[in-house]
Amino acid sequence: MSKNIDWGKLGFGYMKTDLRYVSRWKDGKWDEGQLVEDNNITLSESSTALHYGQQCFEGLKAYRTKDGKIQLFRPDENAKRMNASCRRIMMPEMPIEKFIDACIQVVKANEDYVPPYGTGATLYLRPFVIGVGDNLGVKPAPEYLFCVFCVPVGPYFKGGMNPVNFTISEYDRAAPYGTGAAKVGGNYAGSLYPHKLAVEKGYADCIYLDPMTHTRIEEVGAANFFGITKDDKFITPVSPSILPSITKYSLMYLAKEYLGMEVEERDVLVNNLDEFKEAGACGTAAVITPIGGIEYKGNLHVFHSEKEVGPVTKKLYDTLCGIQFGDVESPEGWIVEVK
Ligand SMILES: *Cc1c(COP(=O)(O)O)cnc(C)c1O
Repeated sequence: MSKNIDWGKLGFGYMKTDLRYVSRWKDGKWDEGQLVEDNNITLSESSTALHYGQQCFEGLKAYRTKDGKIQLFRPDENAKRMNASCRRIMMPEMPIEKFIDACIQVVKANEDYVPPYGTGATLYLRPFVIGVGDNLGVKPAPEYLFCVFCVPVGPYFKGGMNPVNFTISEYDRAAPYGTGAAKVGGNYAGSLYPHKLAVEKGYADCIYLDPMTHTRIEEVGAANFFGITKDDKFITPVSPSILPSITKYSLMYLAKEYLGMEVEERDVLVNNLDEFKEAGACGTAAVITPIGGIEYKGNLHVFHSEKEVGPVTKKLYDTLCGIQFGDVESPEGWIVEVK
């Protein structure tokens, strides 16, 4: 390792790495794309990304295995989801192969930043598309940039997995048929204030209910929700305003195929949390955050424990991380080696 990084001290923060990928869409097509050193982007002051939120992003990680190889976890799913986000806000799609190739190029060009196996740290990749070029009216941009940069990030849980508590927000993150299912920036700008309120009340983050009736759980901050029922079923909510988490769909598959559990996507009523013995939030950054308790209308509902992760949650976490770091055999097509 030629980079002087204290891998054990890494958190989830920006650090400039050596090279990033940029491709421009102009006159109806994406250019070749290239790796560049400059981490600043020059764009028109009238870009739609700045005024009308015409932009979307993705997040995935590169993992170092025990034998020193580097691998990506289901990058094709990120490519497909990014294209779904692009369609929703009228940006051009990126061919899946080109998306994966860009990720591989960025990882290779910054190989020395991929943390060693055993540290729990990973190289986080942030692909994004922004509308650029001169424009004034509310309409799709004349040009677009697709970029991928990377940052080494620490394991989410230093010193083991700890449950945290959440509070139910009175705010909505997305309208029923709005942009909740797309990973577009506006959803997150709108979440900053409810997040701040939750933290001020002493919670890790807030949980959003379905915007139509405010009775069903939708998202846990910027992560999906799952619960384990007393008879060992893996339950996760379904709604058009939930962002389809790749981690969540992976856990559903592993719960069924690796742990022999029943899996269901259905409504999760905030008034019926008693049906779960364990609950968690899932996403690429934290993998799984065990939910200790949920505060709703002044009552704290505690699941397994506020102090310890539940056994099913732990097993799901170990299985998924085992696959991501190459210690557990992966379902076909989930792992792409960077070579
Ligand atoms: C990105 C994101 C997730 C997690 O998706 P993964 O593909 O598992 O990383 C969940 N909810 C929201 C709102 C998100 O933005």
